[in-house]
Amino acid sequence: MSAQRAQGKRVLRLENTTKRFSGGVIALNDISLTVHQGELLAIVGPSGSGKSTLLNIMGTLDLPTQGTVEIAGHDVASLSDRRLCALRGRWLGFVFQQSHLTDGLSAAENVATSLLYAGVPRRRRTPLAHAALERVGLGHRVGHLPHQLSGGERQRVAIARALVNNPALILADEPTEALDSANSQAVLDLFVRLNEEGATIAVITHDGDIAASLPRRVEMRDGRVVRDAGTRDTLVHAGENR
Ligand code: ADP
Ligand code: MG
Repeated sequence: MSAQRAQGKRVLRLENTTKRFSGGVIALNDISLTVHQGELLAIVGPSGSGKSTLLNIMGTLDLPTQGTVEIAGHDVASLSDRRLCALRGRWLGFVFQQSHLTDGLSAAENVATSLLYAGVPRRRRTPLAHAALERVGLGHRVGHLPHQLSGGERQRVAIARALVNNPALILADEPTEALDSANSQAVLDLFVRLNEEGATIAVITHDGDIAASLPRRVEMRDGRVVRDAGTRDTLVHAGENR
């Protein structure tokens, strides 16, 4: 292993991770990847290259067939379902292509849902949800229902919901895919600002322009990492793999 980056401690480590689906598709083929606190990285590759499978494995939503997944120093394979669920609620935040907000709940109530799952007492949930909505620029929309918000606003609510627990890592799978270009840019700008404020974020995308705008780019093809550029120690890793 190369030296630790000065930036921060390791939040995620995959070591020789493979995912084979029943039927024989090898969606991830011997992936080793480390993410440190404070990073903002793109995981980029064409459709079918294994990006969503990788996000599911990084997010402990699915288990690998082989290899190690470590989140904040915890070996995921050693945990019961209940502890895994707790780890996910404590350390990880998710943003998907669709915002998946609950229709009958206000923006603040949608954000507060992840606090409920994390066991935060009721009286603390509302102020924390409001603060998270402030961070994404939606302090004036806390009482709005999802259908009263634009697509871009709904996605920012989903980002507030992902960050309200202060997760060690935010995983976003094609988060701008359903948005027009102005709203896409707003979401990317938001990720950059949240990263400057300390959040660690992995953005999955098939869009080379989006990837090019981020400081680190992990490129995937056919279930493998073919290039990992933008940080000193990851360049070393990429070199080791060649
Ligand atoms: P991407 O997100 O880069 O488009 P995916 O991770 O969704 O790629 O898929 C990678 C490969 O794994 C594809 O060949 C896909 O068909 C296959 N795959 C994904 N999920 C499953 C599954 N649940 N069962 C079988 N094959 C799957
Ligand atoms: Mg995908």
